[in-house]
Amino acid sequence: MFNVEAFAKYLSQNVHVFNKTNNNHHTTSLSLQSIVQFSDGQSNPSFKVVIQLAPTTTSSKDQQQQVNTIELVLRKKPPGKLLPSAHDIYREYAIMKSLHSIGFPVPNMYLYCRETEVIGTEFYLMEFVRGRIFKDATFTQMHKVVGGGVSDAKGPDQLTADDRREMMIDFVKTLSRLHSVNFRDFELLNGLYKQAASSLNNNNGQKKENYYERQITTWTRQYVASETHENETMNRLIKWLPQNIPQETLTESSCITHGDYKFDNVIFHPTENRVIAVLDWELSTLGHPIADLAYSCMYYHFPRMPGFTGLKDVNFQKTGILTEAECLNLYTTFAKRKPIDKWHFYLAFSIFRLVGITQGVYKRYKQGNASSDYALQVGLLAGSLSDVAWELIVNSEKDNLTVSDSGLNFGLSTKALRLKEKLEKFMNEHIYPGEKIFENQIHEMKDKWDTPPILEELKEKAKKEGLWNFFLVHHHPTEHLTNVEYAVLAEIMGRSFIAPEVFNCNAPDTGNMEVLMKFGTPEQKEKYLKPLLDGKIRSCFSMTEYNNSSSDATNVRSTIKKTQDGKHYIINGVKWFITGAGDKRCKFTIFMGQTNPEHPSVHHRQSMVLIPLDAPGVKLERAAITFGLDDAPSGHWSITFDNVKVPVSNLIFEEGQGFNIAQARLGPGRIHHAMRMIGLAERTFEQMVRRAKARKTFGKTLSQHAIIQQYIGESRIDIEQARLLVLKAAYMIDKVGAKHARAEIAMIKIAVPRATKRVADRAIQVFGAEGLMTSPADYTSPIEESAFSIARVWIGARQLQLADGPDEVHLINLAKQQISKL
Ligand SMILES: Cc1cc2nc3c(=O)[nH]c(=O)nc-3n(C[C@H](O)[C@H](O)[C@H](O)COP(=O)(O)OP(=O)(O)OC[C@H]3O[C@@H](n4cnc5c(N)ncnc54)[C@H](O)[C@@H]3O)c2cc1C
Repeated sequence: MFNVEAFAKYLSQNVHVFNKTNNNHHTTSLSLQSIVQFSDGQSNPSFKVVIQLAPTTTSSKDQQQQVNTIELVLRKKPPGKLLPSAHDIYREYAIMKSLHSIGFPVPNMYLYCRETEVIGTEFYLMEFVRGRIFKDATFTQMHKVVGGGVSDAKGPDQLTADDRREMMIDFVKTLSRLHSVNFRDFELLNGLYKQAASSLNNNNGQKKENYYERQITTWTRQYVASETHENETMNRLIKWLPQNIPQETLTESSCITHGDYKFDNVIFHPTENRVIAVLDWELSTLGHPIADLAYSCMYYHFPRMPGFTGLKDVNFQKTGILTEAECLNLYTTFAKRKPIDKWHFYLAFSIFRLVGITQGVYKRYKQGNASSDYALQVGLLAGSLSDVAWELIVNSEKDNLTVSDSGLNFGLSTKALRLKEKLEKFMNEHIYPGEKIFENQIHEMKDKWDTPPILEELKEKAKKEGLWNFFLVHHHPTEHLTNVEYAVLAEIMGRSFIAPEVFNCNAPDTGNMEVLMKFGTPEQKEKYLKPLLDGKIRSCFSMTEYNNSSSDATNVRSTIKKTQDGKHYIINGVKWFITGAGDKRCKFTIFMGQTNPEHPSVHHRQSMVLIPLDAPGVKLERAAITFGLDDAPSGHWSITFDNVKVPVSNLIFEEGQGFNIAQARLGPGRIHHAMRMIGLAERTFEQMVRRAKARKTFGKTLSQHAIIQQYIGESRIDIEQARLLVLKAAYMIDKVGAKHARAEIAMIKIAVPRATKRVADRAIQVFGAEGLMTSPADYTSPIEESAFSIARVWIGARQLQLADGPDEVHLINLAKQQISKL
């Protein structure tokens, strides 16, 4: 709480303030009866304060009669380090005081205290308004403290459809009334907004600065300062919004905006369907009216989510709740405005601001400064909210954003062309010759799970030449690439089984690095991500379980249990097919298991933790042999986790977020696999054609036989189709983000291994018996390709039809999307 004694003393010293409102002309004494914090609200903490005023000079009989109880609300700044410009308590006070003077429904203001010595922060005191606060526009829940304070208040169960409708109409009307207030009429506000007003208007009264630009800049700054993990759709909004501000907003004059106009910030009369007070003016500023309207309407686009209720699934007719279109119509009628153009901009902007707010709440929760534990739930919403905003934009601007016949652009920048050239040179000079050395070293090494030295030598060379970590795409420290550009480079790297690792662009490390970059704490990044980015260690990803169907990630049932003292997790389970675990340089795994087995949602039962592979209880059992190969020196391993203990700081992100992290990890990973596999298919094709030209049967080269020509023609078509689909998926990720390219990503995950398998199958046939050999050292021809095995390409493609989820699961998801569209 705060120093109650100091607060009581301060109240007594200011008793005259209450005397006036009390109509009590006697000198009175003031006593503090109670202080209780309101549990809701994530920003400025609020308290209900009850005081008693009693005459000091009258007899005890009179005193009894004249003791007066006053209920107040104290609002203060939160404690701790705050973002600049946030939590401006004085602005709230000044706006409400001004509006109250013209009869606008706000609580009466008693006093504002600037001195921080009294209770530790600035605060103000206002009237406690008795009435009904509904948690949201579904009217299903009423705020306990305020609503419950009025015995005859009409609660949610007593409302008719007409009641709800009337209340919503007054809610919209009150907003339009606020926007018609001229801030220049109030001395208090004139002073407060002087700076804002002068920067908004030049001498001709024309605007110099734009509200949305200013807000987008401010909220971007606030968001970045509170960012705890990467949010892809929020990054997209940050780019899109400033470029799409509607022109008409530049010429319209500014008005007072509330900034957080929603249902639980208004008090309705206990029994009548009208607004009697608008609360929480913390975000109020001089701005554009439609921002407030869109903010109160964004709930129409949210489904029911834990944390707050959206209106997407409401039965409007039955409940009487206004539709979004009705709200817009009413507002434009009350405010005498034209119909609103580019509505999706305003909605996206409002959601963007809300993400800024929720992210701030989450950051404060992490620092231990949030007003309540509920902050965690609200904070975690940020990701889903920005997805909704981006979806609105994509749906409204479909033609501009998604791929149309004329929209595809696979052009490479000069920078990407230069990198491509450099990469191809490196492949020719070091990788292809290095393949033979690699094969020889593997055969000569005593322990096949040791690293062939050529790999580390080539890695050092690649790093020195700046051919490193391209998969980071726009996160790359120097070479920012688009996904289309990376696809082209990945195809080149993918031509060789050893190249992706040489350039530090190999699975499963790339997926793990992306997870740590998005969700890792600073300590996790330092300990695990940094050495991975440097190529000093390797890692693996443990999801699939022995004797448990793992196509469905919600099936994962290994356990991650917190110890009683809350300091560690104990992990148990048997995982298998864990790629890369056998590599001697593999130092840790990202492990998925259940932390919350009782959670009602199957998508919130799992979590992910980081486990060092040398932790007691971790045992590598054996590498799977598939098609006769163990894929040394990395392999696909069975691992037993027997009472493995890790500190709680090894948890990635939050408990119950394992499924979401798995989704985020596999999205980009799937496209990377596909891009690399096109390289393998192309190299296999080249092998096939060369062999067909070199080998003769029945008096002709194989390439002169019509059937072989058919193999060649069909293989060309397979590769071109698959490559175009991969490029389209990459283009979609660049344009609208991985979430909106889900269909394309699913398509390439299915199509590319199938196309590659067909090409490899034909190539094996053209090579004759030799084509089946998985040991390339034994190949006879063509000489320069002797370290490349076509049979291994076929095996790799066949494996990929299961790794990262079987074809069927991707097909089902793809089909569901298509069915829901039409
Ligand atoms: C080479 C390779 C490397 C791998 N690397 C890793 C790794 O590093 N880490 C890791 O955790 N896992 C890894 N895996 C495991 C892989 O992710 C799983 O094998 C895959 O998710 C399928 O799970 P499952 O084997 O348990 O098959 P199951 O879940 O038992 O499914 C069996 C089959 O059922 C069918 N099926 C499943 N669901 C449906 C459906 N909804 N409708 C119709 N049919 C369906 C499919 O044909 C599927 O193949 C790897 C696998 C391979 C082959």
